[in-house]
Amino acid sequence: MENQNLFGSEIRQDYRTGIYAIMTPGRSNRPKELEEETIEKMDVSKCPFERGNDYMTTEIMRYGDPWQIKVIENKYPELTGTTPFGEAIDKDGLLKHIGGYGYNEVVIDSPVHTDIFEAMPAEKLIDWVNVLVDREETLYGRRYIRYVQVFRNYGVIGGASLGHPHTQIMAWPVIIGLIKKESEVSKRYNENHGTCLYEKIYETERARILTENNSFFAIAPFGSRITAESMIVPKRHVNYVGDLSDSEKLDFVSILKTVLLTNRKIYGNQAYNFTIHELKDEPDFHMHLEIYPRLSTLGAIELGESVFVNMILPETYAEEFRTSLNASD
Ligand SMILES: [Zn+2]
Ligand SMILES: [Zn+2]
Repeated sequence: MENQNLFGSEIRQDYRTGIYAIMTPGRSNRPKELEEETIEKMDVSKCPFERGNDYMTTEIMRYGDPWQIKVIENKYPELTGTTPFGEAIDKDGLLKHIGGYGYNEVVIDSPVHTDIFEAMPAEKLIDWVNVLVDREETLYGRRYIRYVQVFRNYGVIGGASLGHPHTQIMAWPVIIGLIKKESEVSKRYNENHGTCLYEKIYETERARILTENNSFFAIAPFGSRITAESMIVPKRHVNYVGDLSDSEKLDFVSILKTVLLTNRKIYGNQAYNFTIHELKDEPDFHMHLEIYPRLSTLGAIELGESVFVNMILPETYAEEFRTSLNASD
């Protein structure tokens, strides 16, 4: 019954680079529904995220009656609450590893299998934000949890294994990887320039602004790794989604809708990922949401050197974005 108990995972540091990887033996059994899913042969009755199929998953919470949004345990978690947490380095200092302790939850964004996340009304997406905050509050309150990551994988190349609209929440026992890097870089920027990096970006990066509203702006960052990458940033200094006001939440989901729908207009029904970078316990951090359209695949330059090849200048993408946004169709 407790799928999470089937295996433990381990966060290992690669001694060659210092980069971390999560070892998740057992995840190869994930469903492959999406790869085969087409409009004609989609068998919704087998989808574990359908309202009638609640018995197929382990519920954590629901919103609405009948539910409009539901949070369940991830059947194929990268981190599990039952794995002992602990950091260890062997005597040669080579094999550094951390127990894969943490939590993976899935937010079913809508009861409707064919709903498109970004086309859902803003009011529904505000409910979605409130559900996220509800879960984040709980997860941040658990022992050893340092970072709660909210992300979406959309489309087969985006890494999604089910077509039904869903978001994921992952609670980490360590702050590693890109968010760690961003936290360090913005701290250093603040020390050297006496101002918040993300607020400076808004002032300086005018050519690459995609769109903005009262409390948020969207931008194609100057040195983006990913083709047509963008970032959504609150104008006010906020480090945690839970600190957004009601009107800021509306601005947040509205601009998210605008960016995703405009990307869809330009590139069609492309796979994408997005992730929210926020650190509840680091007031200096400026939260933002990063969107990665999956227009190209990773090759030897990306994998071998960790240097990404971006096929469109961010300013060109920004220009195309604004043109498309302003077109009346
Ligand atoms: Zn479904
Ligand atoms: Zn700031």
